[in-house]
This record gives sequence, C-alpha cells and structure tokens, in this order.
Amino acid sequence: VDCIFCKIAAGTLPAREFYRDDELLAIADIDPQAPLHLLVMPVKHYANIVELIDAGESALAARWLALASKLGAEGGGGAGFRLVVNTGANGGQTVDHLHLHVLAERALGWPPG
Ligand code: 5GP
Ligand code: ZN
Repeated sequence: VDCIFCKIAAGTLPAREFYRDDELLAIADIDPQAPLHLLVMPVKHYANIVELIDAGESALAARWLALASKLGAEGGGGAGFRLVVNTGANGGQTVDHLHLHVLAERALGWPPG
C-alpha cells in the first residue's frame, strides 16, 4: 500500500513523534488546527475505523482510544480536548490510514463545518 502514515510508521518518512510502541503511534499533525493537534494511529494499516472494528481488533481499539484520551487530557491541561475520527468522503477523511485527531489548547467550535 502506498500510504504516507505507513511510511511514517516504518520510519521512512519523518514526523514529530509523541508516542510509539509496537502497535500505536502518535505524531504531530503537519497542518495543526489547534495549538495541540496530534494524530494517533495503529502502526498496522487499517483504512478506517470500520475496518478496525470489522477485524475484531477490540483490544487494539481500546488501547488506541485510551492513548488518545490520555494525550488529550495531558495536553488539554484540565480545560478539555476533542477526539475526532473522520471517515470516508462525507466524514472529510483525506488520509486512508486510520487515525484519531487529538485537538487541545484552544476552545473549539461546534457544530463542525
Ligand atoms: P483526515 O483528513 O484524514 O481526517 O486527516 C489527515 C490529517 O493528516 C490532516 O489533518 C493532515 O494535515 C495530516 N497530514 C497529511 N499529511 C501528513 C504528513 O505527511 N505528516 C503529518 N504529520 N500529517 C499529515
Ligand atoms: Zn497505512
């Protein structure tokens, strides 16, 4: 698969890494929409959240969500944060390697555009 996040996970494309283990990777978004904008992803390629769930990867899904929540809570410093998983065309997904956006350190608007 020709996938930029697989390349970042493999270390062949650079990124500012916030967390890495065998299964999970957190990097800074290259075009941040908040002072803290991280992307938390499985190292293994899943195109979207439906693929992860359909694969029955519930333990990985739980670890993934827990890591994103932890990083958001830390970065948000008690003032809150937002987790987002854009999925498909209407969801605004532009990179087809599953990732959670962690947005923090400013007040975010709602509803989304
Ligand atoms: P999506 O639109 O799929 O929900 O989110 C993709 C995100 O990946 C966007 O916020 C975009 O700024 C970010 N992004 C795209 N290419 C790169 C890259 O090469 N490196 C990093 N760190 N982020 C990227
Ligand atoms: Zn990938």
